[in-house]
Amino acid sequence: MIVTGAARGIGRAIAELYAERGSRVLSVDLSLPPTLKGQRRVRADVSSAAGRERIVRAARELGGVNVLVNNAAYQDAHGSVLEVSERGWARTLNVNLTAPLLLTRALIDLMGAGSAVVNVASVQGLLAEQNNAAYNASKGGLVNLTRAMSLDLAPRGVRVNAVAPGAISTEAVLQAIQDSQDPESTRRDYEDLHALRRMGTPQEVAQVVYFLGSDAASFMTGTIVPVDGGMTASFMMAGRPV
Ligand code: NAD
Repeated sequence: MIVTGAARGIGRAIAELYAERGSRVLSVDLSLPPTLKGQRRVRADVSSAAGRERIVRAARELGGVNVLVNNAAYQDAHGSVLEVSERGWARTLNVNLTAPLLLTRALIDLMGAGSAVVNVASVQGLLAEQNNAAYNASKGGLVNLTRAMSLDLAPRGVRVNAVAPGAISTEAVLQAIQDSQDPESTRRDYEDLHALRRMGTPQEVAQVVYFLGSDAASFMTGTIVPVDGGMTASFMMAGRPV
């Protein structure tokens, strides 16, 4: 299996879960992910042709791909529709939307019938957040690209699904909370977005990705599965006490 953006956060939890369960894992990131048992690491930028070529070469050496998880994302081009820079917009769309398309295409001949693609989208692909136009658009695009991929790859027997995580307690998110003016109240605000009144863990997302990539999900394709503690069940702050 291949997972992009595997050096940290959700991608790392995905790589760890597959490795734990005995899969041969190809971990891809801009900087080298930590070594895991049964894991090969490739340093590559998924948004560059040269990077994707390196991934294809490594996948060929592995003897094929049964699961591809498009998880890497660029999340730093904040700003409203009036503010976001063209450069930030382009980088966000390239990494979060175009790269999953082009990487899947580059690997497809190494993926036999019965294999699966799992795209890591976001609740922000289903609903929008203020001042985050590029990221919202990229994840919204990835949601519908997932459906398009599922239709176009079904004749090959390749399933394609996506997860849409809520706020997940990755190192980066925890650091952002810590760096905020009032970490306690920022943390509570994040927690109150979810009906379950907490953030999710990277492992909780990894479990659902694993399921969607496995034969247990053999009749699922073209679906977007929220892993959001009930956030999108609500039209208000889902977990805020009433
Ligand atoms: P993260 O920023 O902690 O890790 C992302 C990893 O991707 C990093 O190691 C980074 O180096 C790598 N990466 C970025 N651009 C790359 C590129 N061009 N080529 C190769 N690797 C690249 O992110 P995370 O929070 O673990 O998020 C993982 C996925 O989950 C992303 O798709 C993100 O949009 C999505 N997501 C995260 C959350 C959350 O709360 N953390 C919520 C919803 C969705």
